[in-house]
Amino acid sequence: NTRIVLASRPHGAPTTGDFRFETDPVPSPAEGQVLLRIRYLSLDPYMRGRMSDAPSYAEPVPVGGTMVGATVGEVIESKAAGLDVGDHVLSYSGWQQYAVEDARGVRKLDADTPLSTALGVLGMPGFTAYAGLEKIGKPRPGETLVVAAATGPVGATVGQIAKARGARAVGIAGGPRKTAALLDEFGFDAAIDHRAPDFAEQLREACPDGIDVYFENVGGAVLRAVLPLLNEFARIPVCGLVAQYNATSAPEGPDRLPGFVNQVLVKSLTVRGFIQREFVDELYPQFLAEMRAWVRDGTVRYREHVVDGLTSAPEAFIGLLEGTNFGKLVVEVGAA
Ligand code: NDP
Repeated sequence: NTRIVLASRPHGAPTTGDFRFETDPVPSPAEGQVLLRIRYLSLDPYMRGRMSDAPSYAEPVPVGGTMVGATVGEVIESKAAGLDVGDHVLSYSGWQQYAVEDARGVRKLDADTPLSTALGVLGMPGFTAYAGLEKIGKPRPGETLVVAAATGPVGATVGQIAKARGARAVGIAGGPRKTAALLDEFGFDAAIDHRAPDFAEQLREACPDGIDVYFENVGGAVLRAVLPLLNEFARIPVCGLVAQYNATSAPEGPDRLPGFVNQVLVKSLTVRGFIQREFVDELYPQFLAEMRAWVRDGTVRYREHVVDGLTSAPEAFIGLLEGTNFGKLVVEVGAA
């Protein structure tokens, strides 16, 4: 069993040297457990936080520990009732080829949608989009919603749900290939490249009626450009700040916090951070029902970026924080 462990805590952007491959015998299941061969490993921005020991809402991966992550695995040996060899399950087995899991800790997957969607549009990222809009963003017909990292599994789903709810969706992404996909593939009403020198100007032009929902995925320059465009009573689900996950110090320049708080006051903004798991008990069944139907009838489309082999995981993850992924980043773990 080959697994990837955290070799050292990164300073700034992670490097391949922060990861190490280790090999040990394939484990055996005890009563009530299954042995899984991992088919797909999800790579997600939050893993950068787990590599750090800065205080957070989740425990860090210990140095020398297996990197964590959601996985789709095939049952190859079962000592658990209700799970048979050949079944596919969603588990949290991390960056490795094989894993033993308690039957209680896995969820059996239906065969009616591609297996990897359980890690993206029909899994945690899709649910994050759904819950953030359902509980906080609440887009209404005719309103304008803005989201960045918009070709990723959270952002692409946010834009399409907003459209399904009758709002106008403006997507922000890095580079012309991604902005083209926002219009052609995901049906956004406008698409803007955050790397364009006149990005803030373009965003203003794309939002002639201001912004009612800003789904915050990135922070940084995008947030700065959004602030002056917010309408009264705008909602900001604060979901992620990927632009600053590799930061080693505070940004240079004048402190923008006073300006931000002033906007919250004068426009009566609601700003609410959330971690998706807060809403799992309340919303997950409703999410799965609605999202499955949307994926089947084409209301919500999804894009995946599949890399081949567990050995590709460190480099692919490093690229995730810089935008080299184009769609939900998934590792097809493979045999060797
Ligand atoms: P993505 O697949 O969208 O990958 C991250 C993307 O961020 C990159 O592809 C890149 O896209 C973009 N990006 C990186 N740096 C910058 C920057 N400086 N400015 C603008 N965009 C940047 O990831 P996900 O869809 O999985 O996650 C999106 C966000 O949601 C993340 O912040 C993540 O942490 C958060 N999240 C939060 C959860 C919660 O419970 N609160 C749960 C799940 C995710 P591009 O090339 O387009 O710039």
